[in-house]
Amino acid sequence: MESACYIHPTRPAHWKCPKCNQTYCSDCVIKHDAGPMAGNRIMRMCPKCTVETSWIGSSDIIKPFWERLPKFFTYPLSLGPMIYMAFLALGALVTWSWIVQLVCWALVLNYSYAALRQTAQGRLVPPPLWDDTATKNLGQVLKQLVLYIILLVVSFAILTKFGPIIGMLFVLLTLFLLPSMIIILVNTQSLLTTLSPNAFLAIPFKIGKGYFIMFVFLTLLLFAPYSLLIWVSPGIPPYLYKYVLGFAENYYTLISYHLMGYVLLQYHDRIGYEIGIDDIKDSDAPRKEKADDAETLALKRLEMLCRDGKFDDAIAHIQKWQNEGGAFNPELSKRYFDLLKSRQMTTEMVKHANTYLGFAVDQGKKNEALDAYNICIAEDPKITFDPKIMFKLGEWLADTGHPKDAIKILSRLTKTFPDDPQVPMSYFRAAQIYNDRLMDLASAKKILKILIKKFPEHDMAPKFQNYQAHISGG
Ligand SMILES: [Zn+2]
Ligand SMILES: [Zn+2]
Repeated sequence: MESACYIHPTRPAHWKCPKCNQTYCSDCVIKHDAGPMAGNRIMRMCPKCTVETSWIGSSDIIKPFWERLPKFFTYPLSLGPMIYMAFLALGALVTWSWIVQLVCWALVLNYSYAALRQTAQGRLVPPPLWDDTATKNLGQVLKQLVLYIILLVVSFAILTKFGPIIGMLFVLLTLFLLPSMIIILVNTQSLLTTLSPNAFLAIPFKIGKGYFIMFVFLTLLLFAPYSLLIWVSPGIPPYLYKYVLGFAENYYTLISYHLMGYVLLQYHDRIGYEIGIDDIKDSDAPRKEKADDAETLALKRLEMLCRDGKFDDAIAHIQKWQNEGGAFNPELSKRYFDLLKSRQMTTEMVKHANTYLGFAVDQGKKNEALDAYNICIAEDPKITFDPKIMFKLGEWLADTGHPKDAIKILSRLTKTFPDDPQVPMSYFRAAQIYNDRLMDLASAKKILKILIKKFPEHDMAPKFQNYQAHISGG
């Protein structure tokens, strides 16, 4: 791991602030919408300095390609690409028209080229077929075709002029430099630049050993269709050989281009290729990046101040933010509560408890809520919360083997908020707890009597009466 997040020391950092030189993980940078003028790009800012951070490389996010080789082989394995490859392999059977064969080849190249570009942008699934992938960028494909034809012609000329040994060496060198040329073509979209030795000789040096590993792998892929054919030929009729070979070639072309795209992604900082860091993804699920909302911003600010040991500033920041009308979300509320607790600012903590417990109750976080309740009740035995919270806490206390505490909070609810809709059920639950848990029939009966007298019209009144009859009779 190259560098760790300043706030989460165990997480790899992906962003660096140019001002304070601190590095952050993707959760800690502040995400800010750059606005419509800037294409609604998400800007990632330093949580401390609020200046835009820069990406410090993909090496932490992206595995080196040699560590995920099996995934390259399975890359084309989804219905659309497989059907498309199988369809275009039909071109191999068309022996009467080289135009048809060329068109099929161009379509395979075009699709593979789209795969390369998408991979280089961090999308590690084959491009969809139903949009304009198959027809878009035909100019780019033409340039590739021209590139291949030039290389073929030159190789052939050298082969005939200088003999087989020099010819073969030249072909080998061309094969070695071909990925470099394709990478340049993707980058510059210029055939002239692609064919200039300054450019294509530089890439292998920039990438280093990764380039050699890629070359070996691509060369193996080049021969793979033939070895596949040798392997399957005993099992299939001879007239299918051409088709199998054509299909395998398509399959391996797609993998080769995907691999080149991946190398571009992995080494983009060395090659100088701009990638959309916002969407490195391994699946097709759409994921739209959002700017941080006010609560998240407040939370990140708080984390930052805490990390710097400025706990009181962090608390003051939240107080100020709250005074200016900021609302809490569950995360921020919990973090703020924990901070107040750890700073032993009990008055503030008890004041915030209602908000925090409200979220915990809504989210069904029983243990968390009861822990917080126990801390608060120790500080202020007369503490009250919203009736809904108190009722739920009563139920949870009873569930967890604290029937007496449950009775206490339910009775406090009925006394503090006598007109609240939770009151009848609170009486009822208290009666049940007295009877079922505390074996105190007398108290249960007493409470039921009050309940039925006070709320004769309640929806649940028949149930209350049934229960009364049940415990009196039994
Ligand atoms: Zn900074
Ligand atoms: Zn972090």
